[in-house]
Amino acid sequence: MHKNFKNIDRVVFGRGCFNQMGDIIAPVREENDGFFVFVVDSYFRGKELVDRIPTQAGDIIEFINVVPEEPTTDQVDELRDYVLEKHGMPAGIAGIGGGAIMDIAKATALMFKNEGSSQLYQGLNLIKKPGIYHIGVPTISGTGAECSMTAVLTGPVKKLGLKCDWTVFNQVILDPELTTSVPKNQWFYTGMDTYIHDIEAESGIFYNAFSKAYGDQSLQLCREVFAGENAGQNPENDDKLMIASLFGGLSLTYSEVGACHALSYGLSKILGMKHGFANCIAFNHLEEFYGDAVAEFRSMVERHEIDLPQNLSAEWSEETIHQMAEIAYNLPHMWIHALGHDWENKLTLDGIKAMYRRL
Ligand code: NAD
Ligand code: ZN
Repeated sequence: MHKNFKNIDRVVFGRGCFNQMGDIIAPVREENDGFFVFVVDSYFRGKELVDRIPTQAGDIIEFINVVPEEPTTDQVDELRDYVLEKHGMPAGIAGIGGGAIMDIAKATALMFKNEGSSQLYQGLNLIKKPGIYHIGVPTISGTGAECSMTAVLTGPVKKLGLKCDWTVFNQVILDPELTTSVPKNQWFYTGMDTYIHDIEAESGIFYNAFSKAYGDQSLQLCREVFAGENAGQNPENDDKLMIASLFGGLSLTYSEVGACHALSYGLSKILGMKHGFANCIAFNHLEEFYGDAVAEFRSMVERHEIDLPQNLSAEWSEETIHQMAEIAYNLPHMWIHALGHDWENKLTLDGIKAMYRRL
């Protein structure tokens, strides 16, 4: 069976296009109880961007701190319950921030219309009804969360997305000006999520012409942003990285991530490491999967003088390594992509533990 991929309904791209948000959401305000929820990264509290959010009477702005924790099922359930109890059913929800905020907006949009805890829906196509209108506004580029069909949540048992067609945003606003303030290390870690998506997408059995077309473009843009003559944070590169992120995400919708993301999920779930950072920690030591791309990655780390700790595993107990390896092992779709359908003949839990010991 071939994937029948659901894309974002609408996309606006360009410097300053955030100002169009009021017009874009105006027709949606007829829905449900007519108000909007704006979920905003708490970095922006007190910043001028907040004054530009097109609020009307009855709307709610909810600032959410995405550090140090990645979004949790409890967080989404609590936001949904609080809004329903105090305000009613929103017309729509907007996520203004990075991957974490966009995932909270996507997941909460679904949970407004699906009963019980979001824990019940972690997995593929478990959501029963479409959610409310949801709109994503990335303020940092790299995750591809703006276009993916998943909203990644950490629950008591697993770190796994609410994954279905209805998760995909109805609208995305891609305004590269919003990313100007991202600190350099964070710019690199999240930007490398895209680079790693592209490399992983092409390094496995699900790679195909659809994935390659988007992935090649994304990779070329990443190389201009991180390794080209004009590499670094500047307006032209902010534009490029925002599109690289989108295209990297689109490439992935028709391929898969692999070994790096499997290890990264273990690092995030057990040690609470942020996604982009965890990817960088793992990718740095996965030559057997990604060959020359690892050397290219290291040269980009060096060029931008990025903090990338080494020998972290010296601090980890055997139990910690075991727990992380179990998380990684239980992501078969990633290992199938990386190693083939007979991956279990090629990889053992001990093999994954050995990879963690290299980090
Ligand atoms: P993030 O949302 O966790 O934010 C990282 C940091 O950047 C935070 O400190 C935030 O405050 C700061 N930040 C964001 N925008 C800023 C700005 N304009 N100026 C200054 N600081 C800013 O980072 P991320 O890497 O975008 O997202 C990671 C999350 O995305 C994880 O929770 C991960 O699970 C999720 N993810 C989801 C998908 C998906 O397809 N749904 C894909 C990859 C990752
Ligand atoms: Zn990723």
